[in-house]
Amino acid sequence: MGIAVGIDLGTSNSVVATVIDGQAVVLADIEGRSVHPSVVAFGYGHAVVVGHRAKAQLAYAPENTVFSAKRLIGRRYNSDEVDRIRRMVAWGVAEGPHGDARVRVKGKVYAVPEISAHVLAHMKGIAEQATGQAVDGAVITVPAYFNDQQRQATRDAATIAGIKCLRIINEPTAAALAYGYGQGHQQNIVVYDLGGGTFDVSVLRLDGELFEVVSTAGDTFLGGDDFDGAICDHLAAQLLEQTGIDISGNHSAHTKLLEAAERAKKALSKVNAVAVKVPGLGRDAQGNPVGLQTQLDQATVQRLVMPLIQRSFSVCDEALNQAGLSPKQIDNVLLVGGMTRFPLVREAVGHYFGKAPLDHLNPDQVVAQGAAIQAFSLTAYSDQPAAVLLDVTPQTLGVRMVGGFLDPIIPRNSQIPTEMSKIFTTAHDGQEEVRIRVHQGESRIADENELLGEFVLSGLRAAARGEVKVRVAFAIDADGIVKASAQDVESGRKVNLTLQASSNLTAVEVEELKFDELGF
Ligand code: AMP
Repeated sequence: MGIAVGIDLGTSNSVVATVIDGQAVVLADIEGRSVHPSVVAFGYGHAVVVGHRAKAQLAYAPENTVFSAKRLIGRRYNSDEVDRIRRMVAWGVAEGPHGDARVRVKGKVYAVPEISAHVLAHMKGIAEQATGQAVDGAVITVPAYFNDQQRQATRDAATIAGIKCLRIINEPTAAALAYGYGQGHQQNIVVYDLGGGTFDVSVLRLDGELFEVVSTAGDTFLGGDDFDGAICDHLAAQLLEQTGIDISGNHSAHTKLLEAAERAKKALSKVNAVAVKVPGLGRDAQGNPVGLQTQLDQATVQRLVMPLIQRSFSVCDEALNQAGLSPKQIDNVLLVGGMTRFPLVREAVGHYFGKAPLDHLNPDQVVAQGAAIQAFSLTAYSDQPAAVLLDVTPQTLGVRMVGGFLDPIIPRNSQIPTEMSKIFTTAHDGQEEVRIRVHQGESRIADENELLGEFVLSGLRAAARGEVKVRVAFAIDADGIVKASAQDVESGRKVNLTLQASSNLTAVEVEELKFDELGF
């Protein structure tokens, strides 16, 4: 018999866990490492390496070493977000056939779920090696703020990797599960999740084994990478001042400085000041190699990163507002994500909530542990009561109206699974078809939100405008994935569809990309 695992598929790192003897245990590789870089490196021929070995290649072959691919998942090529990612990375970003953003390495273009699939397959391999058992299925976590396309793309990644995805759950919800399962808490808690690439905050009500998400909010562009970026910009400015060398556009030098910035940031979690020494960033007029030698202290870093920490609190304000709670009404604050190891973040969070956050949980591991608990309860019989997760949809789902406004159908923070419908009437005389464009997001202007897909219901009776009625129904399943249908009320004729997100892979493409079992 195989095992079910929980996989925390992080922007920078991934972790896999399973339940053994009633305990959620993080599984380590043969070298004892339990946290694995979500990095995929392409070598000679078809060679692909993942994890620590891939990260080791980052400094000397950045253009073949894909990191932070999760930032691209489910995103459209022509978007501000993708422009920002393109400036951050040395590997190429290409436009896919559905207008989706893809990864270009060594002249070959990869769909983002393919890259994530390599990470998932790597984590599955670690779990199988650690336990000596086959992985039958996995619960995979995603940031709570992920939209339908990003969730679908994650599920596609599992399929490509040959992993049965039992459920997609939100990272903060998984963390709450790891914290509260079997403890019988009656509390309001907040999960503050600051990872490598994203920030999420969720407010939950815990009542015994019931885990109810009351509200969630997030910023898919706020994380440790931005902290590194802010420190890196400061170091680059110092280099320019000291040596006249400008590294803008020099990916290799930028990568070295970025890595130095991350190392300094981590070191500053423990000490007040660090020396930063980065050789080989350029050459002087005589052709001699030039590097950077400087010092960074906590006060300087605090000045650089405080605006980022403040941004996270605007998101907390939003989540608390939606939950109708004040910071004082929160009993406990859980920290998740590597960036919450940073003392400045911990202190600022303590300040904001008026209480020190809990520190007995390992912020790198709780998400995978919670996912493992959920995987276990979805597959095994146990004598402990199964946890009941009630999650919410993070973004409003609606349709585009004539005039370009969004008509909300399922408001954000509605409990899932859910189904809602609305009746629309034709807008013109003699109209025989309606085109329904489905969007997700909070802007009143439909086009400012993510387009999930569009579909057409044709063959309507030609009549005066307003006479023919169409019922549009949406369902959001427990994975947060949307299904839609439209029905001609008069004839009862119905069009059903899983929103094939316009920027995602089709089912056929996913099938074609599936890894050959023997290849791994
Ligand atoms: P995650 O995506 O949760 O793995 O978070 C990774 C982020 O946490 C990266 O930006 C890391 O640089 C950051 N991080 C990990 N450990 C520390 C630490 N001790 N101090 C500061 N940042 C850290």
